[in-house]
Amino acid sequence: MDTKFIFITGGVASSLGKGIISASLGKLLQTRGYKITIQKFDPYINIDPGTLNPYEHGECYVTMDGMETDLDLGHYERFTGIQTTRDNSVTTGRIYMSVIERERRGDYLGKTIQVVPHITDEIKRRILLNATKEHFDFVITEIGGTIGDIESQPFLEAIRQLRWELGPQRALNVHLTYVPYLAAAGELKTKPTQTSVKQLQGLGIQPEVLVLRTEHELSQELRMKVAHFCNVEVDAVIQSQDLPSIYEVPINMQRQGLDAICLKKMGLNPGETPDLGPWLDFLNRRKQAQAIINIGLVGKYDLQDAYKSILESLAHAGTYNDRKVKTHFINSEMITRDNVAEKLSGLAGIVICPGFGQRGIEGKIIAAEYTRTHDIPTFGICLGMQMMVIEFARNVLGYKDANSSEMDDNTPHNVIDMMEEQKNITQMGGTMRLGGYECQLVEGSKTWEAYGHKSSIIERHRHRYEFNNRYLEEFESNGMKCAGVNPSSNLVEIVEIPSLKWYIGTQFHPEYSSTVLHPHPLFMNFMAACIKNK
Ligand code: GLN
Repeated sequence: MDTKFIFITGGVASSLGKGIISASLGKLLQTRGYKITIQKFDPYINIDPGTLNPYEHGECYVTMDGMETDLDLGHYERFTGIQTTRDNSVTTGRIYMSVIERERRGDYLGKTIQVVPHITDEIKRRILLNATKEHFDFVITEIGGTIGDIESQPFLEAIRQLRWELGPQRALNVHLTYVPYLAAAGELKTKPTQTSVKQLQGLGIQPEVLVLRTEHELSQELRMKVAHFCNVEVDAVIQSQDLPSIYEVPINMQRQGLDAICLKKMGLNPGETPDLGPWLDFLNRRKQAQAIINIGLVGKYDLQDAYKSILESLAHAGTYNDRKVKTHFINSEMITRDNVAEKLSGLAGIVICPGFGQRGIEGKIIAAEYTRTHDIPTFGICLGMQMMVIEFARNVLGYKDANSSEMDDNTPHNVIDMMEEQKNITQMGGTMRLGGYECQLVEGSKTWEAYGHKSSIIERHRHRYEFNNRYLEEFESNGMKCAGVNPSSNLVEIVEIPSLKWYIGTQFHPEYSSTVLHPHPLFMNFMAACIKNK
C-alpha cells in the first residue's frame, strides 16, 4: 500500500470552508489522474449527524450505503463525482463506541483503556481504513472543528503519529486559517494565523501548506511574513479569497498551485498543470446564464445549510438550462389558505422539502393543493412527496382526515404509513430506510421520460414512512399515478399527476446525487418545465 494521506485542519475560526478546500484539492488531484477519496472526521459525540437538528448542523447527507453524514460529504461528491461510504464519515461517538464495545467483549485482555493509545489507535485505524478496502493514490482527511478545541485533541494526536509513522512522502498537513481585515486600521492581520500554527506546532504538527482565508487580496510581502513566522515555504502559503461561487475555488487553488505544492512535498513531480476542461465549461456557462428563474422552496428551516443539496441541485440544473436560479424560501408554518396565492406568486415552480414531524406540514399540504389546482410545476421530495399524497387523498379522494401515521397514529386513512416490518423496531434511527434502493420506472410515465427512458434507477432514501399500497388503485383511478416501485418490496417510490405540467413526488432524495459535471435528470427536467411554465 503506497497511498498518500493529506490531512486538512483548520484554525482561528470555524466555517472557513475546510470542506470546500478538501473537495477542491480532491478535484485537482483527480484531474491529474490520481485516484482519490475524501473523508471527514468530526469531533462530536453523536454517533452520526442523523439525530442532529438541521439548525445545529445543517443538512444530513446520506451516502449510497446508507450512512447519515455531515453535509461536507455532499461537497466531496458534487466536486469529485466519487461515491463516499460509511467509512468516509466518522465521529468521536463512533470511535468511542467501537472501543467501548471491544472493551465489553474483553478484547483488551484486562488492560486500562485510555484516550492514548486506545482512542488514538482507533482513529488511526479508521483514517487508514478506506485505503485498505480499495486502492487510492490519495486519501484526504478533513478534521472537523478548530485547533484549540478540547475535543479535537485525540484526532490531532492521531495525525501527528501517522505523520511520523508514514513519513513526509506519505503524510502531509494542510492547515486552513483566517486573515482578518481590520477596517479601522486598514490592515490585514496575520497574528491569528501565527498563533494557530504555534498551537499546532505545540501539538507536534508542522503544517507543510497553509491556506489563508481572506476577504482581501494578500500581498507577497504578507505571505512572506506568514511563511517566515510559521516555518512554511512562501509558495506553500496559498490565499483563499472569497469568490462568487464555491465552484470557482478549485480554479483559484490550481492557479496558485495548491495541488502542485502538495505533490512536490510528497516527492512527486507535478509536471504540467492539467486543464480543468468540463469544469471550466460549467463555470463559463454559469457566468453566461443571466436570465433569472424564480423557484420557491417550501420548508420549515429558514437556513441555507438545511437544504444544501437541494439548493446545489437546483443551481446545477439551472446552469445547464442557461438560467440563474433564484430560490425563495417560504416558511411552511406561515402558509395559510388565505395567503398561499400571494406567497407563491411569481414563482416558476416550487419544491416541497423533506422533513420530520408535525411542524409546518399543513402549510406544505396547502401549497401542494395550490400548485396542483393552478398547475404550477411542483417537485415533492420525501416528506414533500408524502404531503402531495395526503393532499390528494383529502381533496380529491375526499378523505378529509387522511394523514401520515407519523403525524396522526389514529387516522383511519393512513395513506402514508409505516411498513409492517418496521413497526416493532422502536429505537430512534433504527427504523429508517437509508441509502440506495432500486426503483423500477413505469414506462411511459413523466418520470421515465425525465430519466431518459431508463427502466431502473438507484436513488438514496432517508425516511421511515411509506405510501400505503392499500390506496394505490384509488389514487391511480383518480389521476395520481405511481411512476416507480421498489422491485423487492413493491413500495411506491414516485408519484406523479400526468395531466399536469410537472407534478412529481419522490420518496427518495435525488438531491444527494446531483454533481457539477452530472446534474440530476429529475432536477434538469423540473427546471426545464419551470422555464417553460414561466
Ligand atoms: N418524515 C418522513 C418519514 O420519515 C419523511 C422524511 C424525509 O423527508 N426525509 O418518512
